[in-house]
Parts: sequence; C-alpha cells; structure tokens
Amino acid sequence: MSLWPRLMVYHDKIAHNAARIVSLCRQWNIGIYGVTKGICAQKDIVRILLENGCEGVADSRIENVYRMKKEMGVTIPIMMLRTPMLNEVSEVVEYCDSSVVSEVETIRALDQECSFHGKQDYKVLLMIDLGDLREGIWPDELENIAAAFKKCRYVHCMGVGANFACFGGILPSSDKLRELGRLSQQLEGLLGYPMKLCSGGATSSLSLLEDGTMPRCVNSLRIGEGIFLGTDSSGMRVIPYLHQGTMVLETEIIEIKRKPSLPQGRAMANAFGEIPAFTDRGWRLRAITAVGRQDVKIEGLAPLEKGIEILGATSDHMVLDVEESERQLHVGDRLHFSVDYSAMLALTTSPYVSVHMIR
Ligand SMILES: *Cc1c(COP(=O)(O)O)cnc(C)c1O
Repeated sequence: MSLWPRLMVYHDKIAHNAARIVSLCRQWNIGIYGVTKGICAQKDIVRILLENGCEGVADSRIENVYRMKKEMGVTIPIMMLRTPMLNEVSEVVEYCDSSVVSEVETIRALDQECSFHGKQDYKVLLMIDLGDLREGIWPDELENIAAAFKKCRYVHCMGVGANFACFGGILPSSDKLRELGRLSQQLEGLLGYPMKLCSGGATSSLSLLEDGTMPRCVNSLRIGEGIFLGTDSSGMRVIPYLHQGTMVLETEIIEIKRKPSLPQGRAMANAFGEIPAFTDRGWRLRAITAVGRQDVKIEGLAPLEKGIEILGATSDHMVLDVEESERQLHVGDRLHFSVDYSAMLALTTSPYVSVHMIR
C-alpha cells in the first residue's frame, strides 16, 4: 500500500516534551496521564509516553483502549476519558482501569456491569464543570452524585477532575482549581473514604505551574497537546521549554500546471456546498498534492517552504499556489507542512496516511 501521504514523527522531540513535562510536574507532586486520543493511540507514539514516566494513559475511544491493552501490552493504568455510552459500559469495565463519569445512570450501569464481570473495585473520576460547559456535574449536584456512589458495591470514586478550554474556551485558574479541591474534600466527607486523584486539567493547566500559581490540592494532569506538539492552543502559545516541529506532513505533487487564478464558467457551490471566493491574480503556477479532506483538516496545515500557499482542498486533492516557490517543482516532488492539533487528530486517524517514526 502507498506510504504517502505520510506523517513524519520526530521521536526525540516528543520524548523530550514528555520527559520535560513529567519532571516539571513531579516538582509539584503531580502525576501525568498521557492523553492518546489526539494521535489515535498510534503504537510508536504511545510507547514514548510509556518510556518517559507517564503514570497512566487516557483515551476517549474504546477501540484505542482495546488496541493499547490487547495489542501493545500497555500495563500502566488506562483511563476512559469520555463518560461512557451506556452501550459500551461492558467493554469499558473490561478494558479500562478507570473512567470519567458525570451521570448517575452511567455510575449505576458501571456498577451493575462490574457485578457481571466479577470486578471488585472499579475506579471512576467524577468530572466537575467549573464553567467550560462541556462534561461534568454542576457543583450543586454533588450530594446527589454522592448518594449514587454510596449505593454502589463495586464502583469507587477515585477523585475529581475538571476540564477547561475545550468547549467554552474557559482557561484554568488557581481559584477554579482551589474550588475543585474544596469539592473533593466535601465529597470525601460525604463518601467517608479518601479521594486519591485531583485532576486539574490538560495542557492549558501547565501555565499555572510555570507562573507558580497551581494550588497544592492538584495532584494529576491529563496531557496530550503539550507532549505531542509543544503548543497550548487554548493559551494561543508555543510552550517555550518544549519542542515544536514534532510532526511534519509529507505529500507528493501529482499535477503542476499554470492556470488562471479565477475559475472559468458559471459559478455555483463546490463539492462541499460552499461558494468559494477567488481573487484574480492572473495566470499562476499551481500544484496539486495527493492529500485531502479525508485525511486532514486543511486549515490546520502551514507550508514549511517559502512561496507556497494553500488554496483549498477537496476529498483527495489539495490545491496550492506555488508561483513564488524558490524551488523548481516537478511532479513527484514532496512538499512539507506543519500540523496543529486538529490536523494531527485527522492525519493519525485517516487509514490513508502512514505514520513514520524518525529516530
Ligand atoms: C483531550 C482531553 C485532554 C487532553 O487535552 P490536551 O489539551 O491535548 O492536553 C484532557 N482531558 C480531557 C477530558 C480531554 O478530553
């Protein structure tokens, strides 16, 4: 099968990022769950997490969890990072060591499933919504949820977690994380057993370590983007002590021709129901590379060479203006692009893209 398009992954850069984050967090007594969903739990990349001190891994897709457990032999704890569908609780109990939860029905279903599987002690992390408005109980539901936990025979609450900067774009803050710590204590009081984990967010929470404002109650973070890309997109920054350029998309030119910059004829919507806008720049040299929307989110790519501009893409073709390119380009030449989180997510998931580890 074709090896292109391919995503070139720089092993040492990602290993450096993982080790650096793990050691920074260790200074604060914070352990790291490496979050594998953004790379579709690609085997060679997961291995980097295992080799660099992550205390667990977390993924939102049971298929990825299954591969890590059964095919890669991952032995550190695996957490289900999305509150389970009722129709997957059986697999979740079988393959995950813990799961996030936010609904009484799910907690009950997990407990019932544990009795079928003979699991004595299944751990769940209660997600609490501190304003980002994605998953999590609203703090006033705490007593109600505690009552549900008390009825469980097999499910035990391992702690609380909060998520930021995902849906609402709300940044973590020391106030919000102190609130998480207070809720954890309150839950401990209600349940009568200790909460082990206080999971204070994702890559966006690293900034609190950097400026020294991370509350002491937080003892765990769930990190994906920072390790894989060295960026913090919700903080709109590169993380200065981490490597960027960890992954590069390589595509091959399949057509290169001079064409007008305006489409010719009666204009309507394109194949995606959009009405594209064009500016007349006269005749331009254009290249097509063999990659498309089935593989990547085009908006998440940036050309790594001067004089190349992405004009757009359909399912399988990406159209580029290469008029200003400093190279003499030919059919068969390869062009390189940096990737952001959304592009990484799609590229590692597309069955048409190969992942090539460079050591
Ligand atoms: C995706 C995800 C993370 C990891 O986020 P990064 O920004 O990639 O570090 C952490 N927690 C939850 C609940 C997630 O869904």
